[in-house]
Amino acid sequence: MRVGFIGLGNMGRPMAKNILQKGFPLIVYDIVPTAMSHLIDQGAQGASSPKELAGRVDIVITMLPDAKAVSSVLEGEEGVFAGARKGLLIVDMSTVAPSDTQRLAQEAMARGLRYLDAPVSGGVAGAEAGKLTIMVGGKEEDYKQCLPLFQCMGERIYHVGDIGSGNAVKLVNNLLLGINMIGVAEALTLGVKAGLKPEVLLEVIKNSSGQSYAFTSKVPSFILSGHFKPGFSINLQHKDIELALQTAKECNIPLLLGSVAYQVYTLARGKGWGQEDISAVIKLWEEVAGL
Ligand code: NAD
Repeated sequence: MRVGFIGLGNMGRPMAKNILQKGFPLIVYDIVPTAMSHLIDQGAQGASSPKELAGRVDIVITMLPDAKAVSSVLEGEEGVFAGARKGLLIVDMSTVAPSDTQRLAQEAMARGLRYLDAPVSGGVAGAEAGKLTIMVGGKEEDYKQCLPLFQCMGERIYHVGDIGSGNAVKLVNNLLLGINMIGVAEALTLGVKAGLKPEVLLEVIKNSSGQSYAFTSKVPSFILSGHFKPGFSINLQHKDIELALQTAKECNIPLLLGSVAYQVYTLARGKGWGQEDISAVIKLWEEVAGL
């Protein structure tokens, strides 16, 4: 199986490295040429464009910032569609709206290509350790063909339904994370202002019904130290809630807490904290509380 990987950023670079280390021949491309050099040094081949890459592989994985970038990599003049042979399998692991995935998959299938959406959870640390959770939407036989590649990058791999389902699961997860994080910020500030030590709150609540991933992971990793870099950024969380709101609009579903959460992350971005971990939203409450 000859594999191509496009988008070698914070997530894509370690994911591609794990595929390479498991012995798969790998061809890489990134719009920023220096992003490829680390992988080329380790034995990957570089491509001059997504089009050229597509002509040399059986599977193309994309790990790009957003749907606009995915569309340009696939549909652009120098894109994957222009260079692909019939039957090529495109696996988009970026986080995009399910409707964007479905549109791109339809365009791919109209050209005789195959498509999976396979967004991930677990962050840069999970990508580096090969321990991502991967949520896959698409046909069973395509999923099975890709499973050995997914197993290079992830530990928990779920085939969750048709094309777009992977991104739907991802958006539900990240909507919950974004809302939970704000709940933690608000409740923790109240506790501290009421005279409690945050360490005491951490110990009791991680063993009580108020616990969540946002609480048990983010409080010890970031909030107690007051250092909010690096992590899962406010910019990415903002993008993911935006995608959830877009999807809710398409489904005619109200997202009351999601809308408020979106405004909180917009405010945090306005404060200049976009690159900080999402737990940095607690600073909004701390400012008001004088902590
Ligand atoms: P990133 O910005 O670090 O990397 C994106 C890479 O894509 C960059 O190297 C960039 O040069 C490249 N790129 C952009 N446009 C391109 C184009 N037109 N052609 C070729 N290459 C192009 O982003 P990331 O943190 O690696 O995230 C990638 C995706 O994974 C996003 O959709 C994000 O939402 C999702 N995600 C990120 C995390 C995380 O913790 N960082 C966790 C889960 C999911």
